[in-house]
Amino acid sequence: MTRVLRSRSELRGALAGAPRPVGLVPTMGWLHDGHRALMQRARADTATTVVTIFVNPHQFTEAADYTRYPRDEPRDLAICREEGVDLVWAPPVEEVYPPGFDTAVSVGAVARPLEGAARPGHFDGVATVVAILFNVVGAERAYFGQKDAQQVMVIRQMARDLAIATEVIACPTVREADGLALSSRNVHLSADERAAAPVLRRALVAARGAWQAGERSAEALRAVMRKTLAAEPLAGVEYVSVADGTTLGELDRVTGPALLSLAVRFGPTRLIDNEPLG
Ligand code: AMP
Repeated sequence: MTRVLRSRSELRGALAGAPRPVGLVPTMGWLHDGHRALMQRARADTATTVVTIFVNPHQFTEAADYTRYPRDEPRDLAICREEGVDLVWAPPVEEVYPPGFDTAVSVGAVARPLEGAARPGHFDGVATVVAILFNVVGAERAYFGQKDAQQVMVIRQMARDLAIATEVIACPTVREADGLALSSRNVHLSADERAAAPVLRRALVAARGAWQAGERSAEALRAVMRKTLAAEPLAGVEYVSVADGTTLGELDRVTGPALLSLAVRFGPTRLIDNEPLG
C-alpha cells in the first residue's frame, strides 16, 4: 500500500519503523517512464521506496517556467501505486522551506559550466532542496537519471562534501522510440516541435559515431552536433559541449572519459540531453 504524506513529521513517523535499506527517488511530478524506471530500480535494490513529488521553486530561473511546469498529483499518485512505492512525500512549499528559511547550498566548479552557466542559480536550488530531502528522508540510496548528467555530479559532490551518507545512484536515460529523452517538459512541445525534437539524440549519436570512427578533436565533434542541429529549423541551439567526464571542463581533445551534451530550445521549451563517451 502506498502512503501519501504531507508534513515532515508525518514522513518521519512513517519512516521510523520502515524496513531498511530505504531508497529515495526525488521528482518534480508529472511522472513518466523515466521516473518509473528509477522507482523500479529503487524497489529492486531496497526494502522501502520513498518518492518525493515537489516542484522546487528555488531551482527555476524563469518564473514562467515554474508557473507552467505541468502538475497532476492524482495521476502521479496512481503511477506511484502501480509501481508499488511505499511512501510518497508530496509536501507543501512551507514544509520544505519553513518560514524564515535562509540557507543555500552552493556547489563549486562542477556546477558552473553548461546548465550552471545557462541557468544561473539553478544548481544552488537543486543542491539545497536535495540536501533537505536527503536529511529529512535519511535514505541509504537515492536514484537519479543520467539524463541530467551534470545534476548527478553536482548532487554527488554536495553529498560527499556535506558528509551525507546517502549513496547517489545514476540510472540510464529512458527514451521514446524515436530517441527523444522522456521529460516532463515534452508536454509543452507542439506537434511540429515534437516531430523535430529527436534531432537532439541524432546530434549526439552522430558525434558518438565520429568519435567511434576515431575523431578526437572536441571542436570537430561539436561541429558534427551543430551541423545535425542546423538541419532542423525549429531547433534553437543554446549550447553544444564536449567536456571532461569528471570536471565538465570543455576539452580540446578527447583522451579519456568525456560527456557530449547539448541544450536546445523549441519555442519556449528548453530540452537537454547528453551521451557519455568512454
Ligand atoms: P524531474 O522530475 O524532471 O526533476 O526528474 C526527477 C528524476 O528523474 C531526476 O533524477 C531525473 O534525472 C530523472 N529523469 C527525468 N527524465 C528521465 C529520463 N528520460 N530517463 C531517466 N531518468 C529521468
